[in-house]
Amino acid sequence: MSLFNHVEGMHYEGMCIRPPSEANSILLQATTGCSHNKCAFCGSYKDKRFRIKDNDIILSDILYASRYMRRQDRLFIMDGDALIIPYRRLTWIFERIREHLPWVKRIGVYANTKGIKMKSEEELMALKGLGLGIIYMGVETGDDQTLEAIRKGANAQRILDMGLKVKSAGITLSVTVLLGIAGRERSLIHARATGALLTAMDPDYVGALTLMIMPGTPLAGDLSAGRFELPDNVGLLKELREMIASTTLTRGLFFSNHASNYLPVKVRYPEGKEQALTLIDMALQGKVDLRPEWMRAL
Ligand code: SF4
Repeated sequence: MSLFNHVEGMHYEGMCIRPPSEANSILLQATTGCSHNKCAFCGSYKDKRFRIKDNDIILSDILYASRYMRRQDRLFIMDGDALIIPYRRLTWIFERIREHLPWVKRIGVYANTKGIKMKSEEELMALKGLGLGIIYMGVETGDDQTLEAIRKGANAQRILDMGLKVKSAGITLSVTVLLGIAGRERSLIHARATGALLTAMDPDYVGALTLMIMPGTPLAGDLSAGRFELPDNVGLLKELREMIASTTLTRGLFFSNHASNYLPVKVRYPEGKEQALTLIDMALQGKVDLRPEWMRAL
């Protein structure tokens, strides 16, 4: 039994981040921060040291959810890359979720390539059997030069291999890519390389976000020193167009409806591709309104 009283509430620490699609999920914080925490554009966990929380605290939160969150049938494990938790400990967490929250139908986590690499395919399949239904992975770009510049910690081949590993374990794969991340000069190279990577990976969902420079990050320093230039609105639209044109998915959904984007687009591949390209062309001709700057947010 937990040392902590389960009526005291969830033990959230610091800013808690989850994918937009997990807005209605039970949010279980099993780790704090991100084990990588080096990406040049990311300010999400700069205030947190990575650690796995004590089992007592995790169990206390599961017990609290079992009393007060009985209508939520999805659960998301925070923070930045919960899949990094060693397999046996992660299995223990999943088993406690099944034991105390039997109505939860899908468990989701963020994962980076390291966390996926640490798990064998059999372990991923076993976690799927315990409820792991979706993995969210930040791809950002398929361009190796940009991946190195942003200190992502993996090249395109590694990202592709890890995405395919998740898929072959039968787990839904949702990835994010970042418009603007390669700067002005490599914008279209990034778009094409990302399209090629997405095509080879064939994820279930692709979310395209537009880079917003976070104060205090290395990229903000590069921007103010003139080493990095963000494409303008038209450049970002052209980048999005090139990325969608270079991507072929068997049945995946590509969306750029995040609040950071200037033009919300939702493409169901393969049939929606041409329509999306036409919409972007109309926006480039000024026939479709873009989201004003003041309405953009992370
Ligand atoms: S892996 Fe994700 S959470 Fe961690 S630093 Fe990079 S972008 Fe941020």
